[in-house]
Amino acid sequence: MDAKLLVEKYKDQMIEDLIGLLKINSVKGESTNEAPLGQGPKEALNYMLELGQKENLTTKNIENLAGHIEFGQGDKIFGILGHVDVVPAGNGWTSDPFEPIIKNGNIYARGVQDDKGPTIAAFYALKILENEGYHFNQRVRLIIGTDEESDWTCTKAYFESEEMPHAGFSPDAEFPVIHGEKGMTTFNLVQTKIDNEFIDGDIQLKAFVSGERYNMVPDTAEAKLNVLTNMSAVIQSFEGFIRKTGHKGSYEIDRGFLNLQLNGQSAHGSTPEEGVNAGLELLKFLTLLELDPSGRKFVNFAADYIIDNFKGEQFKMNYAHEEMGEVSVNTGIINYTEVDGGEFGVNLRYPIGFDFDSGIEQYKEAIQDEGFTVEDVTNQDAHYVDKNDPLVQTLLESYRSHVDDEREAFTIGGGTYARTLERGVAFGAMFKDTEDSMHQKDEHMAIDELLLATTIYLEALYRLTVNE
Ligand SMILES: [Zn+2]
Repeated sequence: MDAKLLVEKYKDQMIEDLIGLLKINSVKGESTNEAPLGQGPKEALNYMLELGQKENLTTKNIENLAGHIEFGQGDKIFGILGHVDVVPAGNGWTSDPFEPIIKNGNIYARGVQDDKGPTIAAFYALKILENEGYHFNQRVRLIIGTDEESDWTCTKAYFESEEMPHAGFSPDAEFPVIHGEKGMTTFNLVQTKIDNEFIDGDIQLKAFVSGERYNMVPDTAEAKLNVLTNMSAVIQSFEGFIRKTGHKGSYEIDRGFLNLQLNGQSAHGSTPEEGVNAGLELLKFLTLLELDPSGRKFVNFAADYIIDNFKGEQFKMNYAHEEMGEVSVNTGIINYTEVDGGEFGVNLRYPIGFDFDSGIEQYKEAIQDEGFTVEDVTNQDAHYVDKNDPLVQTLLESYRSHVDDEREAFTIGGGTYARTLERGVAFGAMFKDTEDSMHQKDEHMAIDELLLATTIYLEALYRLTVNE
């Protein structure tokens, strides 16, 4: 079996089918009974299912949210999970994001890299094996979701009625193999005691705002202060702080209030240490001031539990796993008003083996007396498939048989679609040197990489699911 040769034979047909899929604007839209995620996602799903029907394959549509194309026969099911919804196009495109063009060996269109190209690659890997007369030794389902970019209602609805495959992969990330993904949580730390008793000479913290998303390191922060005496000393102290830390910042006096502004450096919430959290840096400055009781409580709480807490030490939730690394904590949202008090929006990620539920319970108790509580907890469990699992090893070998790259399977702090599968890993379709244009303007995929990914999927599926 020469996977590369087989894929070459189907190249033109594959690109044509991909272009048809890319022309469908499958951004999540207005919900109707017939199309719960809007017309676009429904149309893209049905387009895929029709590609299966043309091959006389069994297909199933689950409420226009998800579906599958089934190859082969048998009791066991192997699953491949892709998605055909896309994020909004955004601005600044060189060409129409839903009129694909081919330029310098690349296909340009929204969704070509995430995840329509890889999904078509997986479909063609299966279709080629089928058309070329190979026999699957089990059922192999290409499962197609339409809500990956938002709420994953697709896979939720799908697995309510459909069997969980015994193993599988998702072509929605990168090569070689991602075999572990950290657990992901968000929660708010909310100030419960607001004490507006005002002492002469105190600086009153009126408001504080930084960040809008749990999973991003905020790059700006602002504080509004009511300074009744000696404003110039506070300004001097702020200027000194800026000089000493090397941060960018500014101040202005507006209707008698002193507004402080500080810039940091944005980064993804899974790697908070790679950014500079503007909110935490500005809080560090506020710890130097004599604030009113409520403001002081907020700032002291930050000093005790929020600042320098990248690994969850201050939460007493630090934990490390040999392969997956340590707990990470990003404080992505920080708000304070004199009326409502303070609130910290936290994104904590943890490796397999860590008991988040009891961790957060003990923390909740620990901060009770500080006048803070934990609210709005969300938690997605960590996901892990052993590195020595035959699934991981076979995928890795299939990849290496077509790419000169000896990297091992690895784990990440983020999440991929693969965590939906009980024994599933992420497998492609970005290569080591691929420019990641997912979710960006001028999203593109090299045709050579589309062919190579298809070749690797074909190789892997041949080894995993075909009897000769
Ligand atoms: Zn995706």
